[in-house]
Amino acid sequence: MGTETATAVTSGADPAGAGEIITVDMLIVGAGPAGLFGAYYAGFRGMQVALMDSLPEPGGQVTAMYPEKMIYDVAGFPGIRGRELVDALVKQAAAFSPTYLLDHQAAEITHTDDGVLVTSARGLRVLAKTIIITGGLGTFTPRPLPTGSEYLGRGLVYFVPKLDVYTDLDVLVVGGGDSAFDWALALEPLARSVTLVHRRDRFRAHEHTVSRVLSSKIEVLTFTEVAAITGDDTIASVELEHSKTGDRHVRPARGVVAALGFTADLGPLTRWGLTIDKRHIVVDSTMHTGVERIFAAGDITEYPGKVRLIATGFGEVATAVNNAAPTVDPSAKVFPGHSSDNG
Ligand SMILES: Cc1cc2nc3c(=O)[nH]c(=O)nc-3n(C[C@H](O)[C@H](O)[C@H](O)COP(=O)(O)OP(=O)(O)OC[C@H]3O[C@@H](n4cnc5c(N)ncnc54)[C@H](O)[C@@H]3O)c2cc1C
Repeated sequence: MGTETATAVTSGADPAGAGEIITVDMLIVGAGPAGLFGAYYAGFRGMQVALMDSLPEPGGQVTAMYPEKMIYDVAGFPGIRGRELVDALVKQAAAFSPTYLLDHQAAEITHTDDGVLVTSARGLRVLAKTIIITGGLGTFTPRPLPTGSEYLGRGLVYFVPKLDVYTDLDVLVVGGGDSAFDWALALEPLARSVTLVHRRDRFRAHEHTVSRVLSSKIEVLTFTEVAAITGDDTIASVELEHSKTGDRHVRPARGVVAALGFTADLGPLTRWGLTIDKRHIVVDSTMHTGVERIFAAGDITEYPGKVRLIATGFGEVATAVNNAAPTVDPSAKVFPGHSSDNG
């Protein structure tokens, strides 16, 4: 989603080369709204920044769960689509060329004299003078389709980062929640056909969205599950089964969007020596976690009066970056000055 405007790193690539260590001033763990704004802010403070995220696209919950929804409570935007907010954040951060380390879960840390060495679950190593954890709900794991996982990345996806790849294709969307209905609606104008299948006849999606889908060209099949996915290199067709009658039929599909929801888990972050309160990281008013060099911001933090919103995450990450600045350069002040003074 829009990383072409930034220093984009192909998902899973090791920009330092096999085994080398990437050295930065600041590593931001979590490329959701708070992490992306933090990348801008740290760049503005003159820091070299890398953003690591276990998802293959930036945007956190917004990209994974509601890219097509309008958001009405982000300051300065009377209304903005989730996808557009993420694109704008990526563009804003791009002024300072952050390095994106996508598809990498931050797993282990080691404290060294030069900073904190973070190792991803797939072995990428980053040495940072300071870290900001903007990990939201933790690592997202999509609920998998019971069948066809061998087509993951070859036609089967768990969320839709780019709509236009579905132009003129037959697409099957699986699920009964908001993401499934939002994506079906977003794909309908450009796909050749969109079929939405759900194993029940009740939907968790917002009533208004359900009515829009039902009055569109999208074919909705209830009590229906995916029995098999077939094809060669990519998906060619799907076999659907009626869960009550057992009747099966095959229909063409080049794309399958399995929008069955996500589970989220702090996972490795619980081993970093942080104070955790009910799946959140306790911070002080400077957003420091109490562990040397490590700050946190956004949905993942906990303190009295905490409100989990995009707007509060933006404020918190600005506080975190500015309070982390002296960790990188002891002569740096906490107050950054005004961006409007910088021309
Ligand atoms: C359906 C829905 C609608 C919403 N609508 C609104 C709204 O209208 N207004 C509003 O203000 N808020 C809304 N929210 C809430 C809003 O999306 C969150 O407050 C916001 O996304 C939090 O941003 P964040 O950057 O703190 O975390 P997140 O967006 O959760 O991003 C965290 C990122 O960290 C990554 N991560 C976690 N652990 C690791 C790790 N160990 N290694 C690497 N990466 C890791 C995750 O993969 C994720 O990408 C909504 C939420 C949902 C689900």
